[in-house]
Amino acid sequence: MSTTVSATNPAALARRLERTRAAAANAGVDALLMAPGSDLRYLLGAGGSSFERLTCLVVPAEAAPVLVVPKLEAPGYDAVPTGELGVELSTWVDGEDPYALVASLLPKASRVAVGDVMVALHVLGLRRALPDAEQVLAGPIVRELRMRKDAEEVDALREAGAAIDRVHARMAEFLQVGRTENEVGADIAAAIVEEGHAVADFVIVGSGPNGASPHHSLSDRVIEAGDVVVIDIGGPVAAGYNSDSTRTYVMGEPRDTDVSKTYAVLQEAQRAAVAAVRPGVLAQDVDAAARQIIADAGFGEFFIHRTGHGIGLDVHEDPYIVAGNDLPLEPGMAFSVEPGIYQPGRWGARIEDIVVVTEDGVESVNKRPHELVSLPVR
Ligand code: ZN
Ligand code: ZN
Ligand code: ZN
Repeated sequence: MSTTVSATNPAALARRLERTRAAAANAGVDALLMAPGSDLRYLLGAGGSSFERLTCLVVPAEAAPVLVVPKLEAPGYDAVPTGELGVELSTWVDGEDPYALVASLLPKASRVAVGDVMVALHVLGLRRALPDAEQVLAGPIVRELRMRKDAEEVDALREAGAAIDRVHARMAEFLQVGRTENEVGADIAAAIVEEGHAVADFVIVGSGPNGASPHHSLSDRVIEAGDVVVIDIGGPVAAGYNSDSTRTYVMGEPRDTDVSKTYAVLQEAQRAAVAAVRPGVLAQDVDAAARQIIADAGFGEFFIHRTGHGIGLDVHEDPYIVAGNDLPLEPGMAFSVEPGIYQPGRWGARIEDIVVVTEDGVESVNKRPHELVSLPVR
């Protein structure tokens, strides 16, 4: 987690803080207690870092926010426009009790919401300091804001999409017969940074049978002619927003005779799911659009995960595109559409784009072709 401040302007951050405060009041909690990470980055423009010393943004429902931070880590927040945001800084030094400091800000709290990623060390520390306050998760409160992206956030997702598209466009440079997944992955990771990401967050090179394991990462398996290879890659751009895109490649001609027919079904399923996206459609309907086509073709048992996940400052966040999620889609929601078909022990394929719900439909931030790309075997 970096402490650099994003391009987000102070007015936008101030709006987010005020809406978060109002959401806390609405939810009947006395305060949100946010740890470093994507929630902090969303609210302050700086994500900070979490160690054994407590850093906590306290957002009371009825008072101004306070950033409680160890004095030695406070410089990491120097670029946060605390004055403009109306955020008070409260530092503490070793030997003092930071949990008591937080409790002193909330003398009458009966219910506090802790950030989803706050570590147990701090959650339990706050529990001891606020014994009469029930603890609930802040996720359901904050996700209502974070899942509806503003124009600036959508722009950052477009920038990330274009950057990862450029990496896929260069795949023939990296993915070659005779190289290991690890070697290919190291080159891809470097290219992810070269093409405009702050870091490479994840690189999946699933060659041959490894492609049938959706979250396989890298191994010392040597790429062979005829392999189908799943490449799923992404990372954050400077503003913190993530890319996540999968394309499936084949080294020359596929070894397995069922590849091209199966892949055509997958391509149709991904296209249909994207086409289903527009305001008012339920998240689960987008999942069903892909799943129906794959099931009708007889591959239902080989599509072993949900169709997609929300994306933004986190690679996986709300809304989840999954059976049972009856959330109606709204403009500004951003998520992956990534059906896959996995043939255990042989090969797998996945196609993944990030899409944004627009006022009357959908925009894909990834523009690369969806066809199975055959790379030359030299
Ligand atoms: Zn995944
Ligand atoms: Zn992915
Ligand atoms: Zn994904």
